[in-house]
Amino acid sequence: RTVYVNGEYLPETEAKVSIFDRGFLFADAVYEVTSILDGKLIDFEGHAVRLERSLKELDMASPCSKDELLEIHQKLVELNDINEGLIYLQVSRGSDGDRDFVFPSADTKPTLVLFTQNKPGLADSDASRKGAKVISIEDIRWGRRDIKTVQLLYPSMGKMMAKAAGADDAWMIEDGHVTEGTSNNAYFVKDGTIVTRPLSNDILHGITRKAVLRMAEEAQMKIEERLFTIDEAKEADEAFTTSASAFVMPVVEIDGQQLGDGTPGPIAKRLREIYLEESRAAAI
Ligand code: PLP
Repeated sequence: RTVYVNGEYLPETEAKVSIFDRGFLFADAVYEVTSILDGKLIDFEGHAVRLERSLKELDMASPCSKDELLEIHQKLVELNDINEGLIYLQVSRGSDGDRDFVFPSADTKPTLVLFTQNKPGLADSDASRKGAKVISIEDIRWGRRDIKTVQLLYPSMGKMMAKAAGADDAWMIEDGHVTEGTSNNAYFVKDGTIVTRPLSNDILHGITRKAVLRMAEEAQMKIEERLFTIDEAKEADEAFTTSASAFVMPVVEIDGQQLGDGTPGPIAKRLREIYLEESRAAAI
């Protein structure tokens, strides 16, 4: 695989980042994951805009312009001959060569790393045909989940808890309400209305969430952005999640309780189709 590090395209075995990099020592880094379908980027613009916001919220310098970022993404996709897959981008605050809680001076060069992940069959996955089983766990993450930082230890533990319980993923609960999935936004559908938590610092502002809600509205579906409990979701007709890496993923079971007939619901399936079709048409 050819990867990108700070201006260079290199074989992955030759790419190097300092051991003092604050991304490594302090999780002082932000990231984006963009999907690739038909060799093209899905919603690059949305990811580039959110990256700028994450950087700004952390007083981190931009490593390059949006045009340069697009060029790097497209060049990596081409060099690695990716038809379906993901492209991971990470910007860390870099380092001035030592470990210190205090940020290094503002002119410290950020570290920019990108790599591709080849995933044939991403759009037509078995997982999406079967639907996902989720468990609920407590949300003990920090209070700025709107910033897409690489502090992913708890979400990673959440996925392990799900796996240990024979499920695929976990939805997190704070103050009695569902926040989001470990790596996706969460929704349920009751009597034709799609319910999802409103945007705040409590959840990541999903790029797929924004696109899917717009498409649902255009398709005259009813949407309620409000807090909801896990019990409401368990009593729902259907449920689903959204993310750049799994698009619209039907959820068929929550904490061992089957939703509907235990197969992907019609609204989730329809939204997945619409999302894939429209996103493909707009990909660059
Ligand atoms: N929520 C969390 C915690 C995530 O990690 C992600 C994606 O990684 C999402 C939501 C979905 O965001 P997006 O649709 O931009 O991929």
